[in-house]
Amino acid sequence: MNAPAAAIDWAAVRADFPLLSREVHGKPLVYLDSANTGQKPEAVIAAVDDFYRHHNANVSRAVHALGTEATEAYEGARGKLARFLNVRADELVLCSGTTFALNLVAYSWALPRLRPGDAIVLTRMEHHANIVPWQLVAQRTGAIIKVAEIDELGRLDLAQLYSLLTPEVKLLALTHVSNVLGTVNPVREICREARKRGIVSVVDGSQAAPHRALDIAAIGCDFYAITGHKMSGPTGTGALWARREHLAEMPPFLGGGEMIKEVRFEGTVFNDAPHKFEAGTPNIAGFIGLGAAVDYLSALGMHHVEAREQALLDHATRALSQVPGLRIFGQAPDKAAVISFLVEGAHAHDLATLLDLEGVAIRSGHHCAHPLMHHFGVPATCRASLAYYNTFDEVDAFVAALNKVRKLLA
Ligand code: PLP
Repeated sequence: MNAPAAAIDWAAVRADFPLLSREVHGKPLVYLDSANTGQKPEAVIAAVDDFYRHHNANVSRAVHALGTEATEAYEGARGKLARFLNVRADELVLCSGTTFALNLVAYSWALPRLRPGDAIVLTRMEHHANIVPWQLVAQRTGAIIKVAEIDELGRLDLAQLYSLLTPEVKLLALTHVSNVLGTVNPVREICREARKRGIVSVVDGSQAAPHRALDIAAIGCDFYAITGHKMSGPTGTGALWARREHLAEMPPFLGGGEMIKEVRFEGTVFNDAPHKFEAGTPNIAGFIGLGAAVDYLSALGMHHVEAREQALLDHATRALSQVPGLRIFGQAPDKAAVISFLVEGAHAHDLATLLDLEGVAIRSGHHCAHPLMHHFGVPATCRASLAYYNTFDEVDAFVAALNKVRKLLA
């Protein structure tokens, strides 16, 4: 075993995840699709269950005891998440996930501001959630999109990126960690360069928040988006952090209950941020679950999570490098535990389907990153993504299963 020296009982951690002990097709499940969605520990499942069993009520609308309990728990979760990200709670808009968060920036910040001739800079490695909203804005405003490219290891070409940051650029949107390559981008340095030039920066933190200790305040960006289901929390939860001055200036994205102070037919006075952007009944139970997930990750310590995942990644990379005909996409020195690969002569979907029959869950496809697939000239890759609850034995079982199925396809 290559377990890191950290004083954590990782076998006990794994035992906290009920789903991981199930079988698939008669084989022990090896879940290597955490970049897609993370599995949930008992503490998160219990928090959601407890809310519905004992506290269920709507937030902010009722003075009765249950309403107060629900509101306190929901706002408590916002506070936990804010501390986890090192931001102020009143700068954290709770929403359904990164997709919503990025669309909120696109519709409330960019759409009213951008003009014909303005430009938006994106990178080659963006998820569709950080491309399509900007295309919709560009179509409606006459702005153009420019793209920062990557090098052969899957790192951003920083010189080329900075050369794109010309005066007509109003916004730079980039991912912190690539969901395909695993590349960890130097967002602090990049956002500093953007800020020097008066360019607003938006960081997609979907793949960073589950794996790295985050200090959003230190990154120096303008907006940072996260999604809860990849952080061992429930689906339908996430957040947008934004600088207070942006939140104050941005018009609401959706109208409805909760986001108002007073409504008359003559006009409405909106609530203060972040509530101004939280129309309607939120995913209360989900956020309480996310608060429990944040507690869970904080108790482990994100530096331990990162070290554990780095050790698993190193082990998996070494083992996969021995597989004949296997090519890894993305070999940046600073890399999260995501391995995209292809095996010569085998289609990605065939490999993933046969691996599933061996109990191994990996993802195959374009990973919502068509422009990156076009760059590599492939329609799809396989992707094994690891989390702290995986084991070295699982990595070995995956590589053994891969060697078995690739021979069937040869
Ligand atoms: N951005 C990245 C880098 C992702 O990996 C994902 C999810 O796969 C998203 C955005 C979208 O997240 P969600 O579907 O939770 O909104």
